[in-house]
Amino acid sequence: MATPEISKRPLTEPSRRLEAVPAYMFAELERRVEEMRDRGVDVISLGIGDPDRPTYPHIVEAMQTAVADPANHGYPSNRGRAEFRDAFAEFYDQRFGVQIDPDSEVIPAIGAKECIYNLCFAFLDPGDVALAADPGYPVYTGGPALAGAEAVLLPLRPELGFAPDLEAIPTDALARARLLFVNYPNNPTGAVAPIGFFERLVELAREHEILIVHDNAYSETTYDGYVAPSFLATPGAKAVGVEVFSLSKGFNMTGWRCAAILGAADAVASYWRLKTNVDSGLFEATQIAAAAALAGPRGPIEEMNAIYARRRDLVVETLREIGVEVEPPRGTIYVWAPVPEGHTSASFAELVLREAAVVVSPGSMYGPSGEGFFRISLTAPDDRISEAVARMREHLT
Ligand SMILES: *Cc1c(COP(=O)(O)O)cnc(C)c1O
Repeated sequence: MATPEISKRPLTEPSRRLEAVPAYMFAELERRVEEMRDRGVDVISLGIGDPDRPTYPHIVEAMQTAVADPANHGYPSNRGRAEFRDAFAEFYDQRFGVQIDPDSEVIPAIGAKECIYNLCFAFLDPGDVALAADPGYPVYTGGPALAGAEAVLLPLRPELGFAPDLEAIPTDALARARLLFVNYPNNPTGAVAPIGFFERLVELAREHEILIVHDNAYSETTYDGYVAPSFLATPGAKAVGVEVFSLSKGFNMTGWRCAAILGAADAVASYWRLKTNVDSGLFEATQIAAAAALAGPRGPIEEMNAIYARRRDLVVETLREIGVEVEPPRGTIYVWAPVPEGHTSASFAELVLREAAVVVSPGSMYGPSGEGFFRISLTAPDDRISEAVARMREHLT
């Protein structure tokens, strides 16, 4: 019997859309960290942004009670509990002055990452464009690529306060764009939304039929009296956009996988429709804990912000001593700084690792416009941050 000619690709080869996602650029840096640790070097990581302090006690207690109740053990409803949706509506009213209809304008997400990824599948077809802040959260580009669409980068430059120049978006990209991803207070730059920027986004959305996705991961993590607005508080925003509100960073809940999407009811409905085909919703007990988080006291958040502000000042001061000038950020858990003369992002991160055994993130990890910068995360315990800056002062001056 003749062997049929094999025209298919090898059985372990991934799909073309998975191959379209850029390979992880910093595998090499991670490999070096591991190799140093194996040799017994005490490497301090200021790379990843993952709060080092526990989730606030009132949230943990609400979860403990909820998890013990068998009524919460079944499949959750994808639309979310009334309690969860009401808590968000109340929080958005109190905190941001935004009116949310709990029935149609908010549903739970299993973290902002899931939400952003699934929004790409809900709104993008091959040939469509998603406009993505650069530097930015990697899912803004990976999501569109996996959905078979195209991400067009919106460079964030210091001269414009790390907001994209909306006038500079190519006409062809505007014509094909269906989504636009932005995030303020901003990861990785620490910038807050410049005055008037959200208003200009609403105009752009109206003019070009582009759904604005504001990734709100840091509105509760701010300093020096700055209070971050919701994008949805902008006049007209609720008709042209959605906001993804994550509890991960502001409530020390990264492991809980808990967020919500709020805003334009039709867009929320499309996301929900996609989601019912993909996952089975957010654990009921987590929804109850989220409601407790949102309705709970502000004290723990303020204490946490005071801790970050202290760490931020220590880092900014040390960077100045080693010749790196940075403005202290007014939000987020990051310090974003230019690399010293003669360095690339990668070569500087490499130097800091080799000389001080401290991991910083190369800015280029967050997109081409991040080249020439590095990011320090403030989520290591105080004594580790102190030790890290002491080493940087000693070895890099
Ligand atoms: C941390 C982070 C997220 C992830 O949020 P999850 O709710 O934990 O998935 C999303 N966007 C930005 C900008 C972040 O920094």
